[in-house]
Amino acid sequence: MKRPLPDVSQSTPRLLLRGLVVLGMCWTLPNSLLGLLAGIIGCAFGARMHWQGAELAVVVRCWPWPWGTGGALTLGNVILHTGERLDTLCFTYAHRAGYDVEPPVSLADHERAHVHQYMLLGPLFLPLYMLCGGVSVRNPFERAADRYAQSGRGWWPWTSHE
Ligand SMILES: [Zn+2]
Repeated sequence: MKRPLPDVSQSTPRLLLRGLVVLGMCWTLPNSLLGLLAGIIGCAFGARMHWQGAELAVVVRCWPWPWGTGGALTLGNVILHTGERLDTLCFTYAHRAGYDVEPPVSLADHERAHVHQYMLLGPLFLPLYMLCGGVSVRNPFERAADRYAQSGRGWWPWTSHE
């Protein structure tokens, strides 16, 4: 009995994309391990971890952060979040800095952009992020994450987005 051949034209891009995601996850594994360690410590203080496929990340909810609630920190494929739900709204950096009046964006979308940035830059991400200004409206990584959360495009800081 003969079986029809699989439709290679449709499965090849999907396989290629999966391969790139796996490569990116391996490349940024040192960051993810740091995030998992912070997540496991957080779980001892009431945080909860689960895999969230849309974000390609382990999301740690209710992560204890001594300086307030409502924030998130991405380390590789791990998102540490102080709140109950990652899919919540937050203000853009430009809005908070008073540069512009912008509508709130999804925190999950913003952090997903950072996951993509980490998977491309791997161990280089944190040094580059710090060189670009750290947690600041001037940091192109943060502006790109806000742009991605606003439009679904442009998570890479140095692409043309006109
Ligand atoms: Zn950010």
